[in-house]
Amino acid sequence: MRDLIILGTGFAQATRCYNTCFAIRGGGGVFLVDAGGGNEILRRLEAAQISLGDIKAMFVTHAHIDHILGVMWIIRMVNAAMKSGKIEGELPIYCHNEVRDALQYMCDNLLANGSFGFAGGRIKLIEVKDGDSFSALGMDFTAFDIFSTKKKQFGFAGDVDGERLVCLGDEPLEPRCRRYAQGADILMCESFCLTRDEGKYKPHSKSHGTVLEAARTAQDLGVGRLLIYHTEDSDIAHRKENYTAEAQQAFSGRIYVPDDMDVLQLGRR
Ligand SMILES: [Zn+2]
Repeated sequence: MRDLIILGTGFAQATRCYNTCFAIRGGGGVFLVDAGGGNEILRRLEAAQISLGDIKAMFVTHAHIDHILGVMWIIRMVNAAMKSGKIEGELPIYCHNEVRDALQYMCDNLLANGSFGFAGGRIKLIEVKDGDSFSALGMDFTAFDIFSTKKKQFGFAGDVDGERLVCLGDEPLEPRCRRYAQGADILMCESFCLTRDEGKYKPHSKSHGTVLEAARTAQDLGVGRLLIYHTEDSDIAHRKENYTAEAQQAFSGRIYVPDDMDVLQLGRR
């Protein structure tokens, strides 16, 4: 049994919740996906009782600051802990070439002291190409290009203890990615806002969508469980209730609109 720990649920400019990122805990460690926009990731990990040494692998979807700057804090802290002998082993970070280049540049130029060297190579930036497979903590995933028109971005799909989990990154499903998401047991999908707030937020102009659109997509794909995140943050107190109600109009499976730090159980039971 593994836990899906939702560390953040907000869009880039959210201030009432953290930027979207999550962790899968189990199988002897933690697989961390994105890290939000800064140092807050360290507090989130502490709150979830995840130590830096627990993180055995990472995946970074794209190089927008609300996803990648927190990764710099993980690298900085893990690098120091590895060098001082507090963390054993390696930390592979799976990402596409643009993320790898951005992380490499920031590590070379933004971190203090020239001796930074990915803990002697133990922190590994591992490039994945569209359709490449990778494994983490006994889970096998396939990375795929979501065909963002804003910035190159990858999602991933794979098997988590008999359940097919698909992460679409922070944009709606692009038709060319359908084969990865079809029949997913759990689909992690962005929704910027409710349909009634479309005029206010104009999600489509930002390559985002509404809750109803995500629900229709999930229904069409025959998804078992739909998880909605990467939202606007104007009414977090009622978000779960309002977004769930809208998603129910089009999707008959289980719907999760997590708050930050909510935990879901993964895997066939
Ligand atoms: Zn984002």
